[in-house]
Amino acid sequence: MSSHTYSREVLLAYLAEQLPSERMAAVEQTLRESEPLREELALLARERDQGGFTVGEVWRRERLSCPTRSQLGAYLLEALDAGPQEYVRFHSETVGCRVCAANLADLQQATAPSPEKQRRRRKYFDSSAGYLRRDS
Ligand SMILES: [Zn+2]
Repeated sequence: MSSHTYSREVLLAYLAEQLPSERMAAVEQTLRESEPLREELALLARERDQGGFTVGEVWRRERLSCPTRSQLGAYLLEALDAGPQEYVRFHSETVGCRVCAANLADLQQATAPSPEKQRRRRKYFDSSAGYLRRDS
């Protein structure tokens, strides 16, 4: 059996039980077969319990990791700051959060991309009124 490796982020998400179910099962299967991976996971769990985390890791541990629906909407419009934008991308694409994936799909449908609509939206977000309403 070839050895699988998972990124630290994926393993942390696994520990927090935030991976999609097929992914949880895949990691579990690999853990059964790989002693080195079990050791890596144990080390990560210890590290996690001792603190010393990135913001994303803290959010995940506190289970505050899911962005709000309005943040997801802003993410789709690329209207978030670089940090949050990157976090939501990581959370939805790399971690594959089911809740957020469903929310994003829903939001994407609601904001069907017609060129006319997009022009209007850009104008809206450029205005200060749009900026103030963005986080409400
Ligand atoms: Zn989420």
